[in-house]
Amino acid sequence: MFELRERDGLARIGVLETPHGRVNTPALLPVVNPNQPVVPPRELADRFGAEIVIANAYILGKGSLRDAVLRDGVHRLLDFPRTVMTDSGAYQAHVYGEVDVTNREVIEFQRAIGSDLGTMLDPFSEPEHDRARAEADVEETLRRAREADGLRGGMALVGAVQGGLHEDLRERCAREVSSLGISVAAVGGVVPLLEAYRYRDLVRVLVAAKKGLDPSRPVHLFGAGHPLVFPLAALLGCDLFDSASYAKYARSGRMLFPQGTRRASELEESPCLCPVCSQHTIGELREDGRLLAEHNLHVCYGSIREVRDAILSGELWELVERRARAHPSQLDALRDLRRHNEFLEEAEPLARRGALYYVGPETAHRPILHRYRRRLRERYAPPPARGLLVLPEGPRPYAAHWGRIAERVLSAADVHLVVKSLWGPVPLELDHVWPLSQSLIPERPDFEALEGGGGGLLPRVGLGRGVSLRPAVGR
Ligand SMILES: [Zn+2]
Repeated sequence: MFELRERDGLARIGVLETPHGRVNTPALLPVVNPNQPVVPPRELADRFGAEIVIANAYILGKGSLRDAVLRDGVHRLLDFPRTVMTDSGAYQAHVYGEVDVTNREVIEFQRAIGSDLGTMLDPFSEPEHDRARAEADVEETLRRAREADGLRGGMALVGAVQGGLHEDLRERCAREVSSLGISVAAVGGVVPLLEAYRYRDLVRVLVAAKKGLDPSRPVHLFGAGHPLVFPLAALLGCDLFDSASYAKYARSGRMLFPQGTRRASELEESPCLCPVCSQHTIGELREDGRLLAEHNLHVCYGSIREVRDAILSGELWELVERRARAHPSQLDALRDLRRHNEFLEEAEPLARRGALYYVGPETAHRPILHRYRRRLRERYAPPPARGLLVLPEGPRPYAAHWGRIAERVLSAADVHLVVKSLWGPVPLELDHVWPLSQSLIPERPDFEALEGGGGGLLPRVGLGRGVSLRPAVGR
């Protein structure tokens, strides 16, 4: 049902097959409110190319809609010909405390209305919940997931991963939910983190969940509808993002941009290239919530396409590092990723297409460079020599740049040549290992970057066994 096309680290390009067509992932799922659709679902398909939308089963099952959706099915009711996922109302239960249906009823209802992807009703763990409470929620989530699996019939089931901020609970919940007959794993309980810009905690939660999840299933990140989050979440292996933000923000006069959010009332003009902003003045946008919602949708879809392109071209890390400059909390999250390098490295490819671009001091901590330094420590033995000559960072490939000096030095002294690079020490004979030569770095790297690249590894590649001829480094 889920076919992986390309992979870059944990990020992937895939195709999700459903009874109403294929969904290319990473994908955006606009949230459609059947009572008051801001943009009619038919237009989402025709004008925005939407392959999938998400609607709330709890809202569909209430009041006057109930009979119509049971009679006509969810696709006809929404007038959307492609894939429809339904959500169970767990979030409504959490926010309003008003959901009076059971897990069994929600699953049976979603089957009855012909949902392509139906979601179990999971309890919602707050990030602040202590361990005992989060653990009880995980137990209940797993009990309901097993129940939903038994009731799903032919419907593809979305299983929830809860566990709050407790990494071991997230991992366990992910592992056990993955062992059931689910088609999509949904990481839940993250909206409070997103609303408070707690991206470091989001990273913790996603890494823990990914450790337990079956990599052959797509991963949905519930409530992540802001383009600021897509690159980071995709980097950590999320494939589906539902967005109510496009409508919610439009209602309060706010415009989404890849870098953040702005009030239309504060803008003199829109910097955006979308059809809405190209054809309307900012004055017209301020007056019209529908136009704002359409702009927000264009930006969200554009960001998803940008993420897909970055995955295909092996540049997602660069995109995440660049985007992290948009908000200090994103930068915190980016810096925290290095704590998870042991895990992230397992999914790293041996090499990527093209060169590795330096974006900032964090670049040196990418998993691929972490791997290089680890292998240098564990697998590399320097050739026998009486001394070590440490060369400064400079134009690459180093062997070509330092070739003539190296020849002269080696004819006069028994030394081993090592470059103190931004990525760590590079013995000249390892120059060809990707991305050591295939890197673009600034001519004047900053001090933090120089220190970050594993300078402490230098002794391991040969110092301490003779005379050191060490010139000034990094000047
Ligand atoms: Zn626009």
